Amino acid sequence: MRGWGGGRAAGRWNVAARRDRMGLNVRAVFFDLDNTLIDTAGASRKGMLEVIKLLKSKYHYKEEAEIICDKVQVKLSKECFHPSNKCITDLRTSHWEEAIQETKGGAANRKLAEECYFLWKSTRLQHMTLAEDVKAMLTELRKEVCLLLLTNGDRQTQREKIEACACQSYFDAIVVGGEQKEEKPAPSIFYYCCDLLGVQPGDCVMVGDTLETDIQGGLNAGLKATVWINKNGIVPLRSSPMPHYVVSSVLELPALLQSIDCKANKRT
Ligand SMILES: [Mg+2]
Repeated sequence: MRGWGGGRAAGRWNVAARRDRMGLNVRAVFFDLDNTLIDTAGASRKGMLEVIKLLKSKYHYKEEAEIICDKVQVKLSKECFHPSNKCITDLRTSHWEEAIQETKGGAANRKLAEECYFLWKSTRLQHMTLAEDVKAMLTELRKEVCLLLLTNGDRQTQREKIEACACQSYFDAIVVGGEQKEEKPAPSIFYYCCDLLGVQPGDCVMVGDTLETDIQGGLNAGLKATVWINKNGIVPLRSSPMPHYVVSSVLELPALLQSIDCKANKRT
């Protein structure tokens, strides 16, 4: 068994030294951010609960408060953002404005929409933290392989999350889909990540919770392996892309990487 513990980190960009020292086959791990390393869905729910409290206590809304938040949630899930059209703040404030108007009727209330949006956003960001055990896992893993954060989404939104969870120092590089020509699952963004680290796709593992982007992208780019984080035990559709490995928590990754490595060694 190749060890994943112990040893001090090699130079920040010195992938070859890290690999040769341990004889590892995996040279880099690409991590998704939302619902892989941070609980984005849980943080968003807490944001919605704060808005419900605000609407009930300050504006005396009753059951409409929940209806408005449900409507916003649906709009967020269907969101189609093109940076050339609008800024994300305008777009998301409009979700709140429309949801309030659809529920309460009357004239549009941009001011209330802004208050709701900023409360939701600030509460959500406050709850976007890297858990201590995730930090420890990343620190240990980085002693052996390069780590890269690969997240889809609008530049401003994702950069605010990265800042909020203070994850920058755990990675050799951070790549935000909204800052690139194409996002996951396009192979080009994975090749860009490989180039940044000076590694080949066959040296890399992609870890993420979304089959259509993280796993499909890793498969499209010909990575060594894809690892699906399936926290809720979802049964995928038969047509879904098939990951190489499935785990219920990102914390299972070090042991899994060790087994990937052993298999690779046996083949050679
Ligand atoms: Mg995700």
